[in-house]
Amino acid sequence: MQPSDWRTYFRGRSQAILDDLRGFVEHESPSVDAALLAIMRDHLAARFGRAGAEVSLLENAHGPGQVLAHFPGPREERPALVLGHYDTVWERGTLARMPFRVEGARAFGPGVLDMKAGLAIGIAAIEAFRDHDRAPRRPIWFLVTCDEEVGSPSSRNVIEDLARQSAYALVVEPALAGGGLKTARKGVGKFRIEIEGKAAHAGVEPGQGTSALKELATVILALEGLAAPGRGTTLSVGLAGGGTAVNVVPANAWAVVDARVSSRAEAERIEQAIHALRPSLAGARIRVSGGFNRPPMERTPAIAALFERARALAHTLGLALTEGSTGGGSDGNFTAALGVPTLDGLGAEGAGAHAENEHVIVDSLSDRAALLTLLLEELVPP
Ligand SMILES: [Zn+2]
Repeated sequence: MQPSDWRTYFRGRSQAILDDLRGFVEHESPSVDAALLAIMRDHLAARFGRAGAEVSLLENAHGPGQVLAHFPGPREERPALVLGHYDTVWERGTLARMPFRVEGARAFGPGVLDMKAGLAIGIAAIEAFRDHDRAPRRPIWFLVTCDEEVGSPSSRNVIEDLARQSAYALVVEPALAGGGLKTARKGVGKFRIEIEGKAAHAGVEPGQGTSALKELATVILALEGLAAPGRGTTLSVGLAGGGTAVNVVPANAWAVVDARVSSRAEAERIEQAIHALRPSLAGARIRVSGGFNRPPMERTPAIAALFERARALAHTLGLALTEGSTGGGSDGNFTAALGVPTLDGLGAEGAGAHAENEHVIVDSLSDRAALLTLLLEELVPP
């Protein structure tokens, strides 16, 4: 079998991959809906079983847990960790107004790109090994988590534990536009600022009060002033509020800021600066909570080298693979931060993740499956 034969093989499997994708999309799985997640988890586990994988459900006290599918390879080799998630940002009932549908070259539906297509592609790859009675270069651990879209609170430990034992991590999140892989991702932080002032009658004795909202105005400017776009650091206060009535000097105010960084050094700078915020008004108090939930995925020499090998392999398939970065985080941030070489964006091509027009390019499914299969067959870590 030549590498280019994988493309032909998967083109013949296009409809089967699309059918799997439809089945996944038609199982709604909002991150916050344990009952629906459990149904999707069982559907996925059964599908992995039919593909020839050995499946474990890593249930935990907090929810439906992760699905770990194991596909055997040479025992002496460290496993390849394939990472996905089966939760989506879409709430229960979304399918009624956004049903799975194929229109021309594109397939639409909630979670179709992010990242149920990645799951269908990954399963197709595993099945290809079984159908050809071939072994991958190393055992495959395909971990599919249940809470990526809410920051992976119950999955982070599992991901890190498996990543430490793996040769590298391949993340089947959506590709960049044009099919590029993601070799750098920003770290994502969320901080909540609470301000306490002192209430007073706004007309009778305003001088007796301390306006928490006035303090907040200063704090918002200070927060956004920490941005350093040239270094990839952005801050945006996306939520804020305060006060109790228009004729009362507000005693309370709050804001939530989204912070994104490209390097650990910047994450530390931002964290320190936010915790060092001091009130400018006498009598006001500031409390800070939160932090960086995901470390940045920095493009280390090991990641660059792994990408270069992947690019050369893609070339043998006749595919021109590019790389890039993104402001969004994924579970690949965790594996990369441990020093595990990580390639992200191995899922489908498409657009509109988290948006009403979310879709995948149907023709990309078979080529992405061919690429993932070839990587699992040939890719060696740097
Ligand atoms: Zn995703």
